Amino acid sequence: MRVLLLVFALVWSLAQAFPRIGVHEGFTRLVFDLPGKEVAYTLSQEGGLLVLLFKGVDAEAKDQVVNSQEVASVQTVPEKGQVRVLVRLKAPVEVATHRYGDPERLVVDLSLKSPTPAPPAKPEAPPSAKAPKPPRPVVLLDPGHGGVDPGMVGYVVEKEAVLDVALRLKRLLEREGVEVRLTRDRDMHLSPDKREDLSRRAALADSSQVNLFISIHVNATPTRTAQGVEVFYFGRAQDPRVLAQVIRENGGGDLGQRLTREAQGVAERILTDIVAQANQRYSQRLAETLGRKLSQATGSPYRGSFPGDLFVLRYAKVPAVLVEIGFGDHPVEGRRLADPAYRDKVAQGLLAGVLTFLANGAFAR
Ligand SMILES: [Zn+2]
Repeated sequence: MRVLLLVFALVWSLAQAFPRIGVHEGFTRLVFDLPGKEVAYTLSQEGGLLVLLFKGVDAEAKDQVVNSQEVASVQTVPEKGQVRVLVRLKAPVEVATHRYGDPERLVVDLSLKSPTPAPPAKPEAPPSAKAPKPPRPVVLLDPGHGGVDPGMVGYVVEKEAVLDVALRLKRLLEREGVEVRLTRDRDMHLSPDKREDLSRRAALADSSQVNLFISIHVNATPTRTAQGVEVFYFGRAQDPRVLAQVIRENGGGDLGQRLTREAQGVAERILTDIVAQANQRYSQRLAETLGRKLSQATGSPYRGSFPGDLFVLRYAKVPAVLVEIGFGDHPVEGRRLADPAYRDKVAQGLLAGVLTFLANGAFAR
């Protein structure tokens, strides 16, 4: 009985921790359980200290030693009407925040910043011409839609534009020694049934032979006034606009809603799956890199990278993203997307993104 009580007390105190802390390969996760949607917080970084301030929250004073790669300790300081949380960092970190509802919580992921200029020399293993050739990275490109499913139709037809960009990107990547596979190389669907079609694309990404999965799409919006580049990685969509877009890419209408709900179930389960979480971090990094490079190459504004419950990405075990190369219904950007010279720039931008991501060691697993 006493043991049971002790276990109960331990579980209770863990549940009470603010934040709950998880140490994972490649990142440290802080989970702040919040009393409601209305709780506001601020986050600031001062040198080696990350400071979070929560208004209208009550928490016990606590000092948690973490000793992960990223974090030394986390101190929770209750103050009048607010709680201050001081995260002592061991090195410069990238901070990614996600807000989830039901139950309400804020998830903060901290990962080390991409390698700084000069990595430590390894005198015992000087680079030599005799070093074994590293394996060729393999990238799976997925031109969205196809066949019976045209995707968005505006100044371009999505299925046609994304296939053309994928073929251009394939040629560029191959020239750089990257092996490329395609989910389709002509105007075809993988199945007339959207669920089956997306599942087959996902299954190709699941193959152990592939190191990266990039699904290529063209964006659209009811107002036809948006332009720019957006990239999605798998996770719970955080705002209604993103969710609407996710539903559209999941097939639209009732079908899109159904597949989105299915994907949401997977996204929710990922929160407890350490391997999937680590992969999500890589996917997020790939999304950021692709988005920025694509924007640089085309001059199209970078609108950001977002988590989304995308059916085609839901079981990916390698870094996987869905990139929206631009808005096909915008009077300026839509016309650009129809231009072969512009599509070349899009392919060049995606190439730069992939090469940067691979060069940062993401391929070494
Ligand atoms: Zn699409």
